[in-house]
Formats: sequence, C-alpha cells, structure tokens
Amino acid sequence: MVQEQRKRGMIGKAMTTELIQLLHDKKDEEAFKKAGKIIKKGGLVAFPTETVYGLGGDALNPDSSRKIYEAKGRPSDNPLIVHIADTQKLAEIAEKVPETAWRLAEAFWPGPLTMILPKKKIVPFETTGGLPTVAIREPGHRAALSFIRAAGGFIAAPSANLSGSPSPTTALHVMRDLEGRIDMILDDGTCAVGLESTIVDLSEDRPMILRPGGITKEALKDVIPDIVLDPGLMSENEEQRPKAPGMKYRHYAPKAELFIIRGSEEKVIEKINSLTERDLKEGKKPAVLCVEETKEAYHAPCVLSVGSRLEGEEVARRLYSVLREFDRQGVDRIYSEGFSEEGIYLAVSNRLLKAAGHKEIHIP
Ligand code: AMP
Ligand code: MG
Repeated sequence: MVQEQRKRGMIGKAMTTELIQLLHDKKDEEAFKKAGKIIKKGGLVAFPTETVYGLGGDALNPDSSRKIYEAKGRPSDNPLIVHIADTQKLAEIAEKVPETAWRLAEAFWPGPLTMILPKKKIVPFETTGGLPTVAIREPGHRAALSFIRAAGGFIAAPSANLSGSPSPTTALHVMRDLEGRIDMILDDGTCAVGLESTIVDLSEDRPMILRPGGITKEALKDVIPDIVLDPGLMSENEEQRPKAPGMKYRHYAPKAELFIIRGSEEKVIEKINSLTERDLKEGKKPAVLCVEETKEAYHAPCVLSVGSRLEGEEVARRLYSVLREFDRQGVDRIYSEGFSEEGIYLAVSNRLLKAAGHKEIHIP
C-alpha cells in the first residue's frame, strides 16, 4: 500500500493535520471515535501520554508501522512500543509472559514502564523493527487509554517528533515537527512526566533496564531485586553499545552543539562563563542550561533554567521543552550543568548525555 501511494505521489506531500483540543467532557468521546476510525483505516494520530506525545498507528497492521517510520524519518530497525489499555491484553501479543511481568504490571501499570517480551505471531516484524521481541506499555493517562480502546486496543507508537529531535511534551511541539505528515493530533496539554518510559527487558534470563525513565531503578529494585542496568547505557565506549536499538543513535538532541560541564558548583559556573565569553568573542551565540539556584550567576546571552535542583520531577518535565527553546532562539553552543544519577536524575542524565553525544568536560 505504501509503495502504491508512493507511486501515486501521495507520500511526502502535505496532508491536512487536524488538531483536536480535548475538553475533558462528553465531547471527547467523539474525538476518540474519530481518531479510532483513522487508526482502523491505517492512518496516524498523535496522542498525549504521561511521558511524551506518541505517534500512534495500528500495531497489528504492518502498513501503519511503515507509515510511522516514514512520517518521523526514523530508521526502520528502531522498534516501536505497543500501547495497550487493558493489562490482560499483554498475553494476546506476548508469548510466555513470565510471573515477573505480571508483578511489574501490578506495581507500575498504568504508568511509565515498558516491558520487552517474546512476541506473538500477530505482531508484525514491521512493528518490532525485525526483532522477535515486542515492547509493551499501558500508559497512565486517561485520554491515551480511551483513544487506544477506541482504536482497537493495540497502538504502536514512538515519540511524536521528527527522528533525532527532542521528544514532544506539548501538542505544539508535535505540530511543529509533524504537521502535514499525520492525520490528527489530540491535544491534552503538557505531559506530566516529560521523559520517555523506563524500558525493562524480560526476554532474557536476567531482567535488565534498557532505558531509564519515569519509573526509577530504585522503585524497580523494590519489586525485582536482581534487576540490572544495561552496562552500555551511560558508557561512551563504542564496543559497549546499548541493547535497545533506539539508544544507540544521537538522540533527544537540539540542533546546537551541547556540552556537559561537571565539577563543584563554583568551578562549573566559572568554567561555563569563561567558555561563553570565548564563544562571544568568536562571534558565536552561546547558551547555558542550568537550575534555578544558579541561573543568576551566568553571563551568556541565553540562560535557561530547567527548574530547582531539589525538584527532579520538574526538571524531567521541563528538559525537552528547554532543549527545544534553545533551537528556537538559534543558539550555536549549549553548556549544561551536570546532574546526579539518583532517582529520576538517572533518566535526566542519560538523555542529556545522549543529546550531548557524550561530550563532557570534567573539572577536577
Ligand atoms: P520511543 O517510543 O521513540 O521512545 O522509542 C522506543 C524505544 O523502545 C526505542 O529506544 C527502541 O529501541 C526501544 N524498543 C522497542 N522495542 C524494543 C525491543 N523489542 N527490544 C529492545 N528495545 C526496544
Ligand atoms: Mg523517541
């Protein structure tokens, strides 16, 4: 079908993207119905979740998955997450659901946790990027769950951004990236978590965190004490690649070059100020990513705070929209303060490190 459309010149051409504001009243039912119809016909709908906005298509329809890759410009070896609205549906698309999976679902679903399990035949390889496993999540967001149910129960969705750019946390971000490329956007305001889900691989002997996210490693350990973190995740060693295909790309990144500066607060401020002064002399526009507590200390022409260092959840929620704001302001270089790896900050640090392409400066 995609090839046929390409022959007819339909793909790549702008289509009209309908933006529907959800109102949290009876009217929303109509919106979900309309969105559901689009999905059943093989179309694409961007929808809100508690993590980031997703770009949804019918997970069981290979043509829909192909269209998702096409709309995002995403490499097709990077698998999609299948979103469900009823926990029991897990067993309809995953083979051999281990007891651990049910325990995790009980503890964290609906919520920002994705599980990798061996796939059943009905899940096409187009959805799993050719892998024999499938990623599954039940999002903790009422509108998302209603939309998924209206659309048949299995929605394949990556984040609703152009491949490589920061994930969208508002409908406006989605509009800027995908207008004219998808059929509809359901708008339900700003995402509460703001970073992608935690991915846990249960398809091998030992449960492993492939991507840190909204559910912390500490919380997971309470349920599965022997869970481990993919050693490839924070490593810059080329030989030790992350296991989730999507984690190997330079990702979540603004257009400007990003550097992370680590060290004591005082030294970091001093270093960043001297770097931005040098850039200004060279005619460049430098910028600083920092926290509320230090933002007055910087002299760069563009200084953006992600929130108070004491409020990790807020920092996570704001990170991507701050990265996008740097793009809007057309800066050339961004110097970011570093963050810890505890709790939600593990996910924040991981995304920043990816966005920076591992460019870190350590001040002794
Ligand atoms: P996104 O939805 O854009 O956040 O991307 C989905 C993420 O899930 C990517 O990093 C994928 O590589 C990862 N993923 C999806 N399915 C699998 C799978 N079967 N095995 C490993 N990683 C997966
Ligand atoms: Mg993504």
